[in-house]
Amino acid sequence: MINIFELIPVGQKSISDYSEFVGEEEITRLKALSSRLAGARVLNLSSTAFGGGVAELLHSTVPLMRDLGIDTEWQVVEGDEEFFTITKLLHNCLQGLNAPWEPEMVEVYLKKNHQYARSFSNGFDYIVVHDPQPVAMYPILLEDGHPGGKWVWRCHIDISEPKTEAWEFVKDYINAYDAAIFTSSAYAPTDLKIPESIMAPTIDPVSPKNSELGTEAVDFVLANYGVDTGRPVLLQVSRFDPWKDPLGVIDAYRIVKEKVPGVQLVFIASMAHDDPEGMHYYKVTAEKAEGDPDIHLLTNLEGIGNTGVNAFQRAADIVLQKSLKEGFGLTVSEALWKGRPVIAGNVGGIPLQIDNGENGYLVNSVEECADRILQLLDNPEIGKEMGRRGREKVRNKFLTPRELVDYIELFLSL
Ligand code: UDP
Repeated sequence: MINIFELIPVGQKSISDYSEFVGEEEITRLKALSSRLAGARVLNLSSTAFGGGVAELLHSTVPLMRDLGIDTEWQVVEGDEEFFTITKLLHNCLQGLNAPWEPEMVEVYLKKNHQYARSFSNGFDYIVVHDPQPVAMYPILLEDGHPGGKWVWRCHIDISEPKTEAWEFVKDYINAYDAAIFTSSAYAPTDLKIPESIMAPTIDPVSPKNSELGTEAVDFVLANYGVDTGRPVLLQVSRFDPWKDPLGVIDAYRIVKEKVPGVQLVFIASMAHDDPEGMHYYKVTAEKAEGDPDIHLLTNLEGIGNTGVNAFQRAADIVLQKSLKEGFGLTVSEALWKGRPVIAGNVGGIPLQIDNGENGYLVNSVEECADRILQLLDNPEIGKEMGRRGREKVRNKFLTPRELVDYIELFLSL
């Protein structure tokens, strides 16, 4: 029998390990705040335990909430390729893709959400539903009476310019919730009837992705994947997805390559379970790379994991995140935390992290991206200073303890 809800095991973490990054006072404040929720039961519901930002966040926030005395669980909803192809389309339409959102898709979507509702067993005080895949389950449950608990929908998508039909479709479901969380006030919707909370994601300084790594380990990883540490490295870490614009990254690299022939470009991507588009777009990107030996396409299928990503983010001369739409872009904070200069699309949640010209560059086109790459390759000291400021910005705003405070304050307010 298929498990409709899969309980995701998470490692253990201790909040005390974070005081060296955010200060003892902040941890004391967090402990005091969370004591007001002691014993509360919290459920996070998402659609994949691997690949992409939501999974990354939950692997840190869930064990830390437990360490703070809040009984927190993470469950992932089951879905087949047809369902996830449709929910990826819904995701794309919410990010502005002008594709039809058809009644047959609605039917498949709702059928699966009814299945979730039938199998769901509550008993939680707070339920956080992440992204649109299972958003309709709670309103469906409500048809048979209130299932109990406070329900919050968290949106990780850049919904600055959604396709109207898609937004109207999910909006009706979202309005049934007790509150909704958006990453940036710049694109939080103005037409919801429920309270909205603004909460940017955060990165975990203690995780294998972000903790310190020595130069030897970094060099070893690069050599292992055939990347030359003696030549400049440009890096983009992200799912193969049109919104991440890997094709635009290759165009920018080619402009740079004419002036700096030694430059190398590395893509690192994980194939997320709920993103069936990934493999197709990987092939599209590989075709565009045309076998150029200085373009490296690495994925989790070649065994590149958190430490590998960490090593490449530390080794890169410049980290790119040339997104065309981006809910937040954890990869930006991850690179800033490692003191790297970052050039990223001026979209969605990225400007929350990058103050243009201060701790990185925001770009609006391939040409601008290539110009900034050339400028930073020519002036590494500018990049170094930007990286220093970037790390401080992340320390102040985008480390996990801040997100825990936001969650607990929101729960208490409900
Ligand atoms: N990531 C990874 N391996 C990869 C590609 C991505 O671990 O091969 C991680 C990346 O480091 C980041 C997350 O997946 O933590 C992606 O989050 P982001 O917010 O940048 O994008 P999303 O995939 O959620 O759109």
